[in-house]
Amino acid sequence: MSAGLDRYSLLRQVIRISNSTVEVERRLHGLLELFRRELKVDRAHIFSLDRDSNTLIPRTTDEDRKPPDLPLRLEGHFVGRAVLTRRPVVIGPASDQDLPENGQALFGGYKTLTAFPIMDDQVIYGVLTLLNRERKEYDPGLLGLIETITTEMAGTIRNSRLYTESKKRIAELSVLYEVARAVSSTIELDRILDTVVNMTSRILQAEGCSLNVLEAGTSTLRISAQHGYIPQGCRFKHLVNTLEENVPEDLYRCVNRRTSYIGPASGDPECPGMRAQGGDKPVICVPLNFKGGFKGVLSVYNRLTSPPGRSREFNREDLELLNTMGAMISSSLENALTFQTVDGLARHNEMLVRNLSYLYVISGAMMTTVKMNELLSIITRALTLRQGLGFDRALIMVMNEEEDALVGAAIREMKPADRQEDARPLEELLKPDQPPEETPAAMRDFLGLTLALQENGGMLIRSAVEKKPFAVNPDQGFYLTGSPLPGSFGRLAFAVAPMLAKGKVVGVIAVDKDLSRRQVTDQDVQNLSMLANLAGLAIENSMLYEYIEQANQALSQARGRLIEAEKLAALGEMAAGMAHEIRNPLVSIGGFTRRLLKTMAEDSPQKYYVQVIINEVSRLEKTLSDVLDFSRDSLGQMEEHNLNEVIAEALYVLRRDFKEGQINVYKDLNEIPQVMIDERQIKHVLFNLFFNSIQAMPQGGELRVKTYPVQSQDRAFVAIEVSDNGPGIPSEVLPNIFNPFFTTKDSGTGLGLSIVHKIISRHHGEVDVGGLEGAGAVFTIRLPVTAESGVYLK
Ligand code: ADP
Repeated sequence: MSAGLDRYSLLRQVIRISNSTVEVERRLHGLLELFRRELKVDRAHIFSLDRDSNTLIPRTTDEDRKPPDLPLRLEGHFVGRAVLTRRPVVIGPASDQDLPENGQALFGGYKTLTAFPIMDDQVIYGVLTLLNRERKEYDPGLLGLIETITTEMAGTIRNSRLYTESKKRIAELSVLYEVARAVSSTIELDRILDTVVNMTSRILQAEGCSLNVLEAGTSTLRISAQHGYIPQGCRFKHLVNTLEENVPEDLYRCVNRRTSYIGPASGDPECPGMRAQGGDKPVICVPLNFKGGFKGVLSVYNRLTSPPGRSREFNREDLELLNTMGAMISSSLENALTFQTVDGLARHNEMLVRNLSYLYVISGAMMTTVKMNELLSIITRALTLRQGLGFDRALIMVMNEEEDALVGAAIREMKPADRQEDARPLEELLKPDQPPEETPAAMRDFLGLTLALQENGGMLIRSAVEKKPFAVNPDQGFYLTGSPLPGSFGRLAFAVAPMLAKGKVVGVIAVDKDLSRRQVTDQDVQNLSMLANLAGLAIENSMLYEYIEQANQALSQARGRLIEAEKLAALGEMAAGMAHEIRNPLVSIGGFTRRLLKTMAEDSPQKYYVQVIINEVSRLEKTLSDVLDFSRDSLGQMEEHNLNEVIAEALYVLRRDFKEGQINVYKDLNEIPQVMIDERQIKHVLFNLFFNSIQAMPQGGELRVKTYPVQSQDRAFVAIEVSDNGPGIPSEVLPNIFNPFFTTKDSGTGLGLSIVHKIISRHHGEVDVGGLEGAGAVFTIRLPVTAESGVYLK
């Protein structure tokens, strides 16, 4: 025991220093100074024990300068031995073997070395070393005294740790409260994610923080939010939930084993640099589990600031804090994710309902008409109205089955007025009776454009042939037609869809978004396809309707002709009967009157009356012969003739009449095939037509006769056209001219044209009348050619 040491006063000083209110480091420093002064030691140090790394770190010395940053491993030296044996170690005289490898600076040159564990009954907090340059005796009494003082030191350190710890815990609790409040204040995922990464960085004093959320259904982790600095290797965008190449070990563990990771950011080229700065734990990753399921990873990188004497790395406490935060934000995150999914679904549903209601309105509008042009206008409007499908432009190509080709049938472009807010509902805008619109110039070339399906080229044909819709966006190298048309329709983004009815393609719809320079989306194609299906059925119906309409018209015309024919037959029969009755008495009247005339004196005043009777009788006889001609039902001699010759003869017979009437005759008789005719009757037809022309031109004029071959459907005809430049036939007269006894002339019988009609019908031919009122009349006769006619006429 050292002489002069007042233990009582020493212990009193120790207790005073230990319990003072100054900062713990200064208290420890005071104790070391006390040792030097009172126990006559040359140097005193306190080392802290770091349990994580099992190293001793110089903490306080009796000098005024900072202790060197020199961590000591526990094995192989006297300081470590005090920890390992939990007992004081006294060495003297000391040799180099007793010193730590890197301990020369601290311990070199001292003869007596002592080390005392600073511990209570449970925990070792560190080691106190007392060094003397000369030999110094430590008797059991002194050792006991120093041990008592180190126990007091342990209490000081423990209290200070407890104090710091509880201050830290309170601080942590308040930040956790802050985090919880922040993340539960909103349901918006993005805001929650941002708040989490910001606060986590701040609370853990990290240089950066990232939050990776597992993408639903794809097992892909994405960086969903990040803050500050993130090492390159950790900036993964796609990280699959299985062991893959290049998956950093830290994240792999977190993702695949669902456990936290603390350590170096493996696989990170920048990491060695960070380690060189003094830390090898620059990353913590914790898994985020909601309802037992793994949903993501929360990571922090590189500590920003460290307390003096500590390395720039994360420790277990940081890991625990991050784990607690992870658990806390998990439920808020889950809520936000669920909300986002539900919100997305709701939006999708809303869109579906909206599209369905559009289609409902559009299909209703299509049902309001069966007229093709109205229908096409409704469809193009439905496609290009803002309230409808909202495409910039639309084109409808309709299938022509006979030619196996698509034909451009309708086009429309969204007008500036269509883009404006229009309060009118779609129903109203799709009514058939809309005012006509101008044809958009850029699309004009598509109207009437015929694209043969065999040509193969362009998306219009492809859609029809493959019966599939397509969307084409800029620079994909596909065009609407094989060779580009002028104008700009469908140059950038367009979509095509076939219009199908009962599995058959009835046409193709094309739309574009070139004017507004938007992309064509999958949803656009889906909407277009649905509309095209409805349009296909409507167009098929309209085509059927048009076909039925035409058939109906043909039927009613045929019925009209039949009624007419029956009427004519009845009239003819009656007329023939009357003609027979009248003929005999008329012959007698004629004969006797002529005889009477002969007996009369030249100057008899009655002679004039008798002459009138004779003239009128011969006119009556002519009428009678016309009536009998008309009622005669059969054809006479059927022979092959060249109509040019028959016409030439008929004209020759009437040459005097033409001359007297000052009528110039022009013949345009072309090469024509032979026809089977009753020559006498056909001449009768020609006479009647020529006479009518002569009578129509009392002041003279021109008569033209033309012949030419005609091919109609699969039958051959020869046509005779007789035209004059008389006054023509007024439109109100026209429907009656073939009726028997219809005449506009004072002395007409009204039988000429009905006989023409009857004779030509008997030859299975046709008569047409044309020409314009005031510009002459044109009669066209068509007679069937060759053997066929023979067959018909039997
Ligand atoms: P008709 O000559 O006895 O009047 P048609 O049956 O030959 O009887 O002619 C009927 C009517 O058709 C004529 O009354 C006349 O009004 C009109 N018509 C016939 N041919 C011509 C013609 N070439 N130019 C003008 N009208 C004509």
